Amino acid sequence: MRFDQRTHFAGELRPSDVGKTVCLNGWCHRVRDLGGLLFVDLRDRSGICQLFFDPAKFEGLKSLRSECVLSITGEVVMRSPEAVNPKIPTGEIEIRVDNFAVLADCDVLPFPVSDEEQMENVSEELRIKHRYLDLRRPSMYRSLAVRAECVRLIREFLDQRGFIEVETPIFTRSTPEGARDYLVPYRLEPGKFYALPQSPQQYKQLLMVAGFEKYYQIAKCFRDEAQRADRQPEFTQLDLEMSFVVQEDILTLAEAMTRHVCNACIQKFELDLDPVGPFPRISYDEAMRKYGTDKPDLRFGLELFDVTEIARQCGFGVFKSAADSGGVVRGAIYPGGGSLSRKEVEKLEEFAKSFGAKGLAQLFIAQEPKGIAKFLTPHEIEQIRSLAKANEGDLLLFVADQAETADGVLSRLRVEIAERCGLRDKRKLQFCWVLDFPLVIWNEEENRWDATHHPFTSPKPEDIQSLDTDPGSVRADCYDIVCNGVEWASGSIRIHDPELQARVFTLLGVNEATQRSRFGHILDAFKFGAPPHGGIAPGIDRLAMFLLGKENIREVMAFPKVGGGYDPLMDAPNTIDQAQWDEMGLMLKKP
Ligand code: ASP
Repeated sequence: MRFDQRTHFAGELRPSDVGKTVCLNGWCHRVRDLGGLLFVDLRDRSGICQLFFDPAKFEGLKSLRSECVLSITGEVVMRSPEAVNPKIPTGEIEIRVDNFAVLADCDVLPFPVSDEEQMENVSEELRIKHRYLDLRRPSMYRSLAVRAECVRLIREFLDQRGFIEVETPIFTRSTPEGARDYLVPYRLEPGKFYALPQSPQQYKQLLMVAGFEKYYQIAKCFRDEAQRADRQPEFTQLDLEMSFVVQEDILTLAEAMTRHVCNACIQKFELDLDPVGPFPRISYDEAMRKYGTDKPDLRFGLELFDVTEIARQCGFGVFKSAADSGGVVRGAIYPGGGSLSRKEVEKLEEFAKSFGAKGLAQLFIAQEPKGIAKFLTPHEIEQIRSLAKANEGDLLLFVADQAETADGVLSRLRVEIAERCGLRDKRKLQFCWVLDFPLVIWNEEENRWDATHHPFTSPKPEDIQSLDTDPGSVRADCYDIVCNGVEWASGSIRIHDPELQARVFTLLGVNEATQRSRFGHILDAFKFGAPPHGGIAPGIDRLAMFLLGKENIREVMAFPKVGGGYDPLMDAPNTIDQAQWDEMGLMLKKP
């Protein structure tokens, strides 16, 4: 089909273009028939421009249906003052169409692409099934444009600092990041499989052994794990590694890059966000103590407090028995919570129970304290008030349980309270560093030590002496970036000594034979002059989420999966032909 090339983008036309004859190509965003006068909004990737069709001049205007593809020529004219639309950049002008051609018709749409309000009620699965239509919405285009700009700025920042971008394989061996692998059968030797990378961790370390010194990659990672609003089976991270660095070098670089990328995007897209400031740093221990989580939302204070010692001595049975049986009694503060209704307090109780609390004890700080006050002495109440830094009118909420349960409940309760008190400022991206993680954590079910991050993380040199005697006390040279309570980046200084790496594998229950068979390549590589090195990997999808204020990762991905990893657009995963089963040497096990 012949058509004229556009002379302008629709969204760029302004009063200064009045009098010009222009050609536009795009989609018919919306058609309005005002008693015979036909107005059409033409949309292309730059925006929208109003077209005016004189019905006396044309036949075939009925073929102008929503989302058909149009090519028009016409003259740019000023709109009459009452027709000006201040909501769009082209709202002062319109085009009087001289010629038009429908380049492609459009069927009945599965949802109203041009109506943002109605789109709110369209099921997400339907949107993703017809993603090519969903992505026509200017809001979706903008989200992906912000994301693309983040990646562009990251590349620019790192390229200017001498990094080299290297692609690493997708068909590879398992590299442990704590999730299940996605496996791909190998046709030439049935029974063998590739694993898709959970991250390029081992390759980037091998690139350091290779002397590349500064590497990065915008890397696809694949993790078969439970999906959540901020998780997808395949996601993108900026993967970065440097040689001859200490922890401080990575922190400085990553923080400067993040601030630069965020602030440039905020400015360019006029995002509704305050500029990103310096990142406070807290240790893992401090984060757990003050916020009950290693992913604290630092937009607000509301620090938790621990009253286990007071509980041990007190006359309140619930507190005392938790403290005496190796548990803890910890609490959260609800500023002004003294004025909550009975019903509202019950809701908080239900909330706590949904995360495993057996109950939620309450102490109302007032002239005459209420709640569990009757079980406590005035001195104990005063001690608790002071630990909680509470004032009159505040409500204190307690969980008496094992530390893990209490922290799990209270960390969420703290966020819930902040939400109710309006303390989760939407304009703020509060990044922070969490440092000094423990190297390993005890896995009760499997009765073994697990790596807190991954097995390649270096213990702090001063803690190595306790590796065999008290592994739980060994801290790692490892760091996370957290933003508004969401883990955003994770990294560490790596082990580069083959003997230490083998010791850590052994500690993690990987025996010598398995070390050879699974990690022989990296243990060998470390024998050939491995420099000290370290890196970090921030999530690209999550960065776009933060900047766009989205709660759901799927909103910043072009073609996301829905629950269970299903792609409704391609209908994947799907069955394969018998011939493919045979070729792979595979058979389905009958239940
Ligand atoms: N490989 C790690 C991850 O994907 C990041 C890192 O340690 O650099 O979480």
